[in-house]
Amino acid sequence: MSAKHRGKFVPVVAPTGSGKDTLITYAKSVFPDLVLSVSCTTRSAREGEEHGRDYFFLSREEFEAKIAGGELLEWAEYGGNYYGTPKKEIERHLAEGALIMGDIEVQGVRLIRDLLPPEEFGTIYIDAGSWSVLEKRALLRAPMSEEELEKRRMRYVDESSFKTEATYVVSNPEGMLEDAKRDFIAVVAAFRKEIGLSE
Ligand code: 5GP
Repeated sequence: MSAKHRGKFVPVVAPTGSGKDTLITYAKSVFPDLVLSVSCTTRSAREGEEHGRDYFFLSREEFEAKIAGGELLEWAEYGGNYYGTPKKEIERHLAEGALIMGDIEVQGVRLIRDLLPPEEFGTIYIDAGSWSVLEKRALLRAPMSEEELEKRRMRYVDESSFKTEATYVVSNPEGMLEDAKRDFIAVVAAFRKEIGLSE
């Protein structure tokens, strides 16, 4: 298929607990032609996850062969596992004119930003509040060791550093999910318009 416009790759950046998955799933329900990029990983599948839908679950050997073969747009080691974005799939969806949404940690997002032409790339940052707000929320959900909490805090610092670099920022404070959904859809519609898709 050859599209009139090339597509756009839009990673969504957010600290853990910001409602990123909820907003992406909602956008997919509003715009069924939204492509959710499927990354490769060496971590094991969690319950309910499917190979080819949530991730391509690979052995370390298989993943390293992909790195060596130049098959990944970017890759990172995170929490002891490899994660990477398959180059061929992204290229195919861009050629088809799709809006592709990705869930990639912030270092990977910065690498891809340097690789793609600016018109084929954009980002959304989801702001659910300060570390103290997210910390309280996480602790209410499940008790956590000091060490785990510190790890999360460091991740928060990394991911939230992207806020000033993002194309769009969507606020998702506690209790305001409906507003966040509306704002998120408006941003997705704006990206769609740029590549000639219906809003
Ligand atoms: P999880 O194991 O919880 O699914 O993901 C852990 C982290 O890996 C998340 O921050 C997620 O955004 C990130 N991640 C998922 N896929 C990729 C990828 O292809 N590249 C990079 N750099 N990070 C990824």
